[in-house]
Amino acid sequence: MIPSYHAHVYFRTQAEREKAEILRAQIAERFVVRLGRWHDVPVGPHTAPMFQVAFLAGIFSEFIPWLMLNHAGLPILLHPNTGRPRDDHVRYPFWFAEILAIKGETLPEISDEALEMEPNTTPQSKPVK
Ligand code: ZN
Repeated sequence: MIPSYHAHVYFRTQAEREKAEILRAQIAERFVVRLGRWHDVPVGPHTAPMFQVAFLAGIFSEFIPWLMLNHAGLPILLHPNTGRPRDDHVRYPFWFAEILAIKGETLPEISDEALEMEPNTTPQSKPVK
């Protein structure tokens, strides 16, 4: 079973950054997730600026359909956390809108690091249809 997932929301221009700010606020209002900090330069395997949304498997069926309809055209990497970071980012992911390059060779084959997660947001509104 997959315990948790990451959605990495990418932005490459000022216009995309503004869309990402709106999307981040919408997510924080609606879902119990852990929002990572803004990375305005590429980090790790990522080849564009982004922020990370970490969430437990229990909200997948609520959060991901919402994200499908509300990603505003931003490229998003959705990957499971299985304890195999390289496979999680390169073999197993879904992409929204666009597929960006991933530097899989920068990731360890095996690591438990992504498996620990405490949410840092409290929803303030119900998902809108
Ligand atoms: Zn990730």
